[in-house]
Amino acid sequence: MAEKFKLEQFTQLSWEGAAGAASPAIRSALELVLEKQGGGCLADEERHALANSTGADLVALLVAADTLRRDLVGNIVTYVVNRNMNFTNICFVGCKFCAFCRGPREHDTYFHSLDDMARKAKEAWDLGATEVCIQGGLPRDLPPYYYRDILRAVKAAVPQMHIHAFSPMEIIYGVELTGMPLRDYLSMLRDNGLDTLPGTAAEVLDDDVRRVLSRNKLSVAEWQDVIRTAHQCGIPSTCTLMYGHMETPDHWVRQLSLFRQIQSETGGFTEFVPLGFVHQNTLLFQQGLARTGPTMEEHLKIHALARILLAGSIRNVQVSWVKLNRGLSQLCLQAGANDYGGTLMEENISREAGAEAGEYTSPEDFQSLILEIGRIPAERNTKYSRLKIKLPEEKSLPGEEADSSRVLAAPARLETARNDKVEVVEESA
Ligand code: SF4
Repeated sequence: MAEKFKLEQFTQLSWEGAAGAASPAIRSALELVLEKQGGGCLADEERHALANSTGADLVALLVAADTLRRDLVGNIVTYVVNRNMNFTNICFVGCKFCAFCRGPREHDTYFHSLDDMARKAKEAWDLGATEVCIQGGLPRDLPPYYYRDILRAVKAAVPQMHIHAFSPMEIIYGVELTGMPLRDYLSMLRDNGLDTLPGTAAEVLDDDVRRVLSRNKLSVAEWQDVIRTAHQCGIPSTCTLMYGHMETPDHWVRQLSLFRQIQSETGGFTEFVPLGFVHQNTLLFQQGLARTGPTMEEHLKIHALARILLAGSIRNVQVSWVKLNRGLSQLCLQAGANDYGGTLMEENISREAGAEAGEYTSPEDFQSLILEIGRIPAERNTKYSRLKIKLPEEKSLPGEEADSSRVLAAPARLETARNDKVEVVEESA
């Protein structure tokens, strides 16, 4: 490899070119995954070696992940039109990485009423959103059935809206408030409109790390219990990992392996979302307990590692654009990821922590960002069961002639042809 090779130039390399410069052990591990089209074939030491790779080995990991992404999910990059609704910032939990929460007597607290939530959901629907993502702080005096009541209010206002809501921490709090068994509580939420659960509050699923990040947070065992039970109740979820603070790549491997294990039992994960730590306004950073967020190398590595280790298990790897800049989010999409997440409309949590990527990315912006890297933009629903390929009138699909590219009916050209549960339609943007 050339001496002045910059990491971001990995996008220009073929797999053969990258593999030639890698060490024999890394090369053979990646070749095995590419051959099997699955990450379950790797030994533990190979997984850890990939997670700790640097230099030419890291470049090979990135290129292999992009190659595997193309093989497994094709060239479509999806996004969902949604609205984030953080219904309150009052929280007693006190996670040290969180700059969003406020004590009940602070001057800038807020609490959206059920009517506010219903109105915001209706506004979002009228603007084309198909999903609302609802999470919030945990206020001490929350009425016991408040999470259920939010679902009822939103569904009464917009019955067709998909509700993606409540972190496992909020679920544990709801169980505590109501005294209901976990399974009954989740079933009640499902019956009142909960469609999917965000797999947040995972951070790093290691109790020693969690004790430093947040003493009051749910344990690893509780997180798993909520997720497994939700899946068994017919409520799919995402899964997440917060990286770039005090954890090591070995924590990443253990967490991805756990997600693989849970997926093999329940099949309930829709996607994996790596969440970069935004350090600026957090106690964790101010107390010297964390590094200054992820490096570019770490951002790229976690997306690539996820594609490799989760191959054959969790199909979708999302870039969390609010925590990345425009160029970096595009690079992560070229290092194994295939989903841009949601438009969000309003996003408070990362912004409070110091993220500068903004609160809203329009569908048109997503389409441009995706076309710029030679991929195909498609709006999806939350469960990825329906994709609408969206192209501005004047644009053709990457690599195709403008006048012959509008018809996407030929199955061989459909990126999702391998997944017969996905319905793909074409619409003009
Ligand atoms: S991350 Fe969630 S639970 Fe933790 S302090 Fe912030 S709002 Fe509260």
